[in-house]
Amino acid sequence: KLYNEVQDLKGNIRVYCRIRPFLPGQSKKQTTMEFVGDNGELVVANPSKQGKDTHRLFKFNKVFGPTASQEEVFLDTQPLIRSVLDGYNVCIFAYGQTGSGKTYTMSGPNLSSEEDWGVNCRALNDLFQISQRRKNSILYEVGVQMVEIYNEQVRDLLTGDAVPEASMHSVRSTADVLELMNIGLMNRAVGATALNERSSRSHSVLTVHVRGTDLKTNSVLRGSLNLVDLAGSERVDRSEATGDRLREAQHINKSLSALGDVIFALAQKSTHVPYRNSKLTQVLQSSLGGQAKTLMFVQLNPDVDSYSETISTLKFAERVS
Ligand code: ADP
Ligand code: MG
Repeated sequence: KLYNEVQDLKGNIRVYCRIRPFLPGQSKKQTTMEFVGDNGELVVANPSKQGKDTHRLFKFNKVFGPTASQEEVFLDTQPLIRSVLDGYNVCIFAYGQTGSGKTYTMSGPNLSSEEDWGVNCRALNDLFQISQRRKNSILYEVGVQMVEIYNEQVRDLLTGDAVPEASMHSVRSTADVLELMNIGLMNRAVGATALNERSSRSHSVLTVHVRGTDLKTNSVLRGSLNLVDLAGSERVDRSEATGDRLREAQHINKSLSALGDVIFALAQKSTHVPYRNSKLTQVLQSSLGGQAKTLMFVQLNPDVDSYSETISTLKFAERVS
């Protein structure tokens, strides 16, 4: 029923779903994505359970099918991003199991090709373009921070240090940002036994701070944009995981459910928002809630082998939307 009512209730929380395509070599696999509506509806089913009706309907503010381009996804995100220049705090998350396209959506598969750019480079590029256009009335200053949260510890990806306050770097162009992102990626690799492994078990947060000074009145406004590539949401088999792997899994579990609890409390307009339960929600506390705007990309892998992870991802999404 009444999708619009749900949207009103949500207020400043939006949930978009993005389904990644099958990758080369996977083309013969069966899909669980039965129907992708242009009104935000998604029907999933398990094709391996023949004779049993496994169809389930989920609703989002928007669903991007496997052929959606990076540009299309960005166009539906742009108004939110632009509100940062008017003094809003915006958080954009990518949630989903490892391999579902979180990094593809947020950063893109390749920083050196503009067409491939994900939300983060496109966002900064757009912010610089608009601030250039407004330069006769408002002076915008932009600074970025980049941290990784791994096992409830925060590490500055632009210096490599574990510090309570991440370093702030002033940037004037998209080229400056790309340079910093490359440093961040290099630091993310340092100390990791295997880059892919580590990046799927840590959250990475790129924060963009904007300060705008009105040149006539000298009044100042501040906005921020947090772009968060979350750790993989897949469940780890408790009987198999031990030691470090189990500890990592417990930290990820705890922080993703703490994030779910915070967004749920905000959606309910609850008076108590439990920010203190994880490092992730503590780091983002000032940018979540109040006048802040939140967008969650729920990433799905269409493959039938991912069916149970797909359902658990969709259940998380249902709770926060
Ligand atoms: P995650 O960060 O969730 O682990 P990735 O973003 O690394 O997942 O995506 C896994 C693989 O799928 C990568 O090879 C990526 O390039 C590819 N991929 C993800 N989303 C898309 C998409 N929308 N179109 C084409 N390839 C994609
Ligand atoms: Mg990734």
